[in-house]
Amino acid sequence: MNPLKLIACLFLLITLAGLPRRSYAWGAQGHRLIVETALSLITPAAKQKVLNALGAKYNSDLAAVWMDSVRINNIYKYKYMKNWHFINMEANQTYPQVANHNDVVYNLQRVMDAFNQKKKLSADSLKQNLRILFHLMGDITQPLHCGYGSDIGGNAELVSTPKYNMTGNTLHHVWDDVLIDEGHINQQVLLTYCKGLTAAQLTTVKQGNATNWMQQSRSYLPAVYACHPKKKGTTALTLKYLDGNVPVAKQQLSYAAVRLADVLQRYFGS
Ligand SMILES: [Zn+2]
Repeated sequence: MNPLKLIACLFLLITLAGLPRRSYAWGAQGHRLIVETALSLITPAAKQKVLNALGAKYNSDLAAVWMDSVRINNIYKYKYMKNWHFINMEANQTYPQVANHNDVVYNLQRVMDAFNQKKKLSADSLKQNLRILFHLMGDITQPLHCGYGSDIGGNAELVSTPKYNMTGNTLHHVWDDVLIDEGHINQQVLLTYCKGLTAAQLTTVKQGNATNWMQQSRSYLPAVYACHPKKKGTTALTLKYLDGNVPVAKQQLSYAAVRLADVLQRYFGS
């Protein structure tokens, strides 16, 4: 590469590194954890049917993040799904006011209905609906995916963290990834959490619909914004803030796994 091109590339990299990261709910790690945990909660026979339905091209890891990969890679065919990952709603708005056919609530409910009604789905439609179900079941439990449009679900809030500093870190990214790292949340942690829920708690977690689950996620927005993000500049998050919110992240990831397992077991279990 000639020196001018090299300088231009370096300049581009530095510029990109300085931009706030636009994220779309749990990072890849969170989405994979949810799906793997859900698959561990259903019967082995149902799990095998799910894996068969995904087809040879997608294992469960790839299927969990398929919606992010088609968005990041700008696949034109799936551009219509780009806003399906979230719902933006100000504090003084209600869901019916802002509901639209491109939000996470509508699209998660739509695919759940397809599974719940045991509609006879074609093999291709089943594959795609599974990839959407895997992903959106996670997105809807991330509080900042059900957050305020005024700061783009925390994507416009620049933050720094004690142990995970990186240029352009955002509050959204902290909730996507940093809390998972800080809490050492892995599949075993989530499985232990899920198996520790009583029958009554499990019933509560599973019941309701996508609208209820979106509202449940929004109930954590006061905790999310307890760091009081500055209007301008970078907000320094404390270790106390991170550690105080790890249990919320752990719970929300576990709830996503329980709800996903419930839909999968009912569809593939018989
Ligand atoms: Zn997403």
